[in-house]
Amino acid sequence: MPDLRPKALRGQLLSFSDDPQAVGAAASHRHLEDGVLLIEDGRIAGMGEARELLPALPAGTPVEHWPGCLILPGLIDIHIHLPQTQVIASFGAQLLDWLQTYTFVEEQRFADPAHCARIARFFLDELARNGTTTAVVYGSVHPQSVEALFTESARRNLCTIAGKVMMDRGAPPGLLDTAERGYAESKALIARWHGKGRQRYAISPRFAVTSSAAQLEAAGALAREHPDCYVQTHLAENHEEIATVRRLFPAAASYTDVYDRCGLLGPRSIFGHCLHLGEAERRRLSESGSVAAFCPTSNLFLGSGLFDLAGLRDPACPVRVGIATDIGGGTSYSMLRTAAEGYKVLQLRGQSWPALDAFYALTLGNARALGLESEIGTLAVGSAADVVVLEPRATPAMAHRMERGADDLAATLFVLLMMADERAVRASYVMGERVHTTPSGN
Ligand SMILES: [Zn+2]
Repeated sequence: MPDLRPKALRGQLLSFSDDPQAVGAAASHRHLEDGVLLIEDGRIAGMGEARELLPALPAGTPVEHWPGCLILPGLIDIHIHLPQTQVIASFGAQLLDWLQTYTFVEEQRFADPAHCARIARFFLDELARNGTTTAVVYGSVHPQSVEALFTESARRNLCTIAGKVMMDRGAPPGLLDTAERGYAESKALIARWHGKGRQRYAISPRFAVTSSAAQLEAAGALAREHPDCYVQTHLAENHEEIATVRRLFPAAASYTDVYDRCGLLGPRSIFGHCLHLGEAERRRLSESGSVAAFCPTSNLFLGSGLFDLAGLRDPACPVRVGIATDIGGGTSYSMLRTAAEGYKVLQLRGQSWPALDAFYALTLGNARALGLESEIGTLAVGSAADVVVLEPRATPAMAHRMERGADDLAATLFVLLMMADERAVRASYVMGERVHTTPSGN
């Protein structure tokens, strides 16, 4: 059982209440230099100045003090693959070859439930080490992969969204289901896990290259039958992929239209990548409230392209956007490293991404992309106490850099963004319970 006794965390607190792009930097967040976060029953019970709150704490309340550290809501990753933890860093291919050569070989190992359980434990340990407390996860085609992940996630009290991949063509036989079987296995997992504690289900056709029209129809039927489930898939990542989809679905107006015709667009639908979209596609994503997942390390690693954040945010037809690692196309579990590469991608696009915007994206922005902002992504009273503690002087190089001109929040956040990785994650908390600690001075 989690430890639900009241406790307090003390340190620099930062929590967003809105998008800096929408309301301006100053109105977007609350920052306390020496703050206290009160936690009761695994939830945030208050946030205020240490000098005011500390004297009012009931005698004996434990206070975990993190001097010099930033305490933020736990980081959120909206697109990551459980079965690719041993595919990450596989050399020399672009998307379709990479899938065939590495990923489809590795994912076959998830037929074995013991392998699924071992990888699920590693996966959630690694997320905790990186300060990620919620992830939206693709399993393999095997229901046991998702069963293992949800079992481990529930044991740890984590808020996890996941689904078994549906794929009925274009991969080795051991990785294929059928339209009917993908539907039935997904439906059984929904019944078993969706809404159980903090677990939620994502209907997960891998992408249009590996799902027949019949299977995408079946995924759409599932989405209609379970409107509070998520949908996740990949869209417009790579030019060869897009040409293949055009060949496979000649009647569709576009790649996005392939999904749209099956009822797969909507406010709970997350589309990985969205790099090469036409105007009509952006319009449909915007109208439907769908979410585009920016996966910068993956897009760079696989040479897929540069995400057009400003284009997707065009006020005339804004698309909701989140940010994600996409392990194992992505190269780091760290959402900080991910955002740093995101910054560089946008530099290549001639677009500016202030550190405050990036930290908004990693917390409240991604929570909003999932419609979960009342549960995660802020330090607001009532939210789950999923929290990360970041140390801006975690390494000698960071401490050295912080000696110069990093005395305001934006500058400190930018140093963290450019230089930090999991060594800067001093602690991760889930429902108020500390689940990971990195010793100081790594
Ligand atoms: Zn992916």
